[in-house]
Amino acid sequence: MTYKYSIPKEVSQVTNSLKNKGFEAFLVGGCVRDLILNKKPKDWDVTTNAKPEQIMEIFPETFYENDYGTVGVVNEETEDGTLKIVEVTPFRLEGGYSDKRRPDSVSFEATLEDDLERRDFTINAIALDVEKEYVVDPFKGQEDLGSNLIKAVGNPIDRFNEDGLRILRAVRLSAELGFSIDLETEKAILETSYLLKEMATERIRDEFIRMIESNEPMLGIIMAKKLGILRYIVPELEETVDVEQNKAHSYDVWTHSLKSLQHAADRGWPLKIRLAALLHDISKPESRRRSKDKEKWTFYGHEVTGARRALTIMRRLKFANDITEEVVKLVRWHMFFSDTEKITLSAVRRLIASVGKDSVWDLVKVRMCDRIGTGRPKESPYRLRKYQSMIEEVLRDPVNVGMLEIDGKDIMDAANIEPGPKIGFILHALLDEVLDDPTINKKDILTKKALDMVKMDLKELKKLGERGKNKKEEEETRKIEDIRHKYKVQ
Ligand code: ATP
Ligand code: MG
Repeated sequence: MTYKYSIPKEVSQVTNSLKNKGFEAFLVGGCVRDLILNKKPKDWDVTTNAKPEQIMEIFPETFYENDYGTVGVVNEETEDGTLKIVEVTPFRLEGGYSDKRRPDSVSFEATLEDDLERRDFTINAIALDVEKEYVVDPFKGQEDLGSNLIKAVGNPIDRFNEDGLRILRAVRLSAELGFSIDLETEKAILETSYLLKEMATERIRDEFIRMIESNEPMLGIIMAKKLGILRYIVPELEETVDVEQNKAHSYDVWTHSLKSLQHAADRGWPLKIRLAALLHDISKPESRRRSKDKEKWTFYGHEVTGARRALTIMRRLKFANDITEEVVKLVRWHMFFSDTEKITLSAVRRLIASVGKDSVWDLVKVRMCDRIGTGRPKESPYRLRKYQSMIEEVLRDPVNVGMLEIDGKDIMDAANIEPGPKIGFILHALLDEVLDDPTINKKDILTKKALDMVKMDLKELKKLGERGKNKKEEEETRKIEDIRHKYKVQ
């Protein structure tokens, strides 16, 4: 068997050590699935017939991971963070699930087959013997990998009743892998989706995050809606279905929101941008009105009510405060770029004051998602590029004597002189030199130069100072021209 990604020695050492002590040891779960798909595994899980105490005896540094007997084997030496801890879990046979979440009992008298049988989907229930290079695949997981199918191990309704999280895992895996869900499994999800009502919010949120962070979040959300689970995650999104907009928009609010989200994923942008893209128009359904002339729809203030709705949604899902704040802010200000009459430098300055220096670029990204989600071919038309150019102009470091590593007071102290026009001339003369050669912008060098200048007569010094002022203006103009050139705007 050859896979694109090889099995790291940190992992094969673990399986080898177990086998040398006479135990069975296999790779199992997501890493085997990913290896077969030629995707890079995120973590490496080993399963064995050794009991937790026996595992701990074999390796020098270990700790208990959870209540299921998983032992973390620590690899201090490795550079790769994913290999610092290799999880080794004894074969497991699970008892009943009276609370639909945690098995009532975990027995360690299990075989590899028992262990594979308790796993969620066939593609996650394949074991791989690292040394002998063979797989154990009693549920035909490889076949389903070949046909891009997510299929429950055993009776799907029973399996979802045991643990409702599997419903979300199915949809999330399908978004991550671009797989379909097997028909029986899909039917079972439709029948058991109500189980999500009782599920811990944190578990729902974590799967939702992984779905949004996948390559195909749009498909994931469409599937979540179709299977009746979106209403337990973000029911507000369902209200956007069929909410028609004006002619400029090719899509209803639902499709627009999903396409905006998908663009953020296609660009590999982070979670906060993706969530803001998904939620930016979440209040359009409630704020839609007919215009006075009845010719078109208006959505006045939807960014303000939308920010409130986004806050409610993210709080309900127990997102951390920092990302919640970021997303709410991006929803609140996403309309800024549509107001043509607001394109002035002072308006851009006000925007930056409202959202902060870092978030202003995130806002540009959300705007790009919004555009593509509207069905426009260009991410960044002239107007948006003009905004970007102005943002950069506002944020650029100003060219002035404040850039110098020395100030007026330093000069007065060093030369022991009183305040007066001389100081300003000297500072500008120094700026003139620093603009020619930025490496001399050091306190000791500048002090020495200033002391020489102090001796010059005022008239001569004034001339030098004026030269500095002119150079500063030229420099400013050049910088702004560079910025405009970069964004191809005037
Ligand atoms: P990834 O690591 O890419 O998230 P994964 O499939 O490895 O994917 P994990 O949460 O690491 O996901 O779980 C490891 C394995 O444990 C899974 O492949 C599956 O075999 C099993 N598993 C995880 N969660 C469940 C569950 N709720 N019910 C049954 N089996 C599960
Ligand atoms: Mg895993």
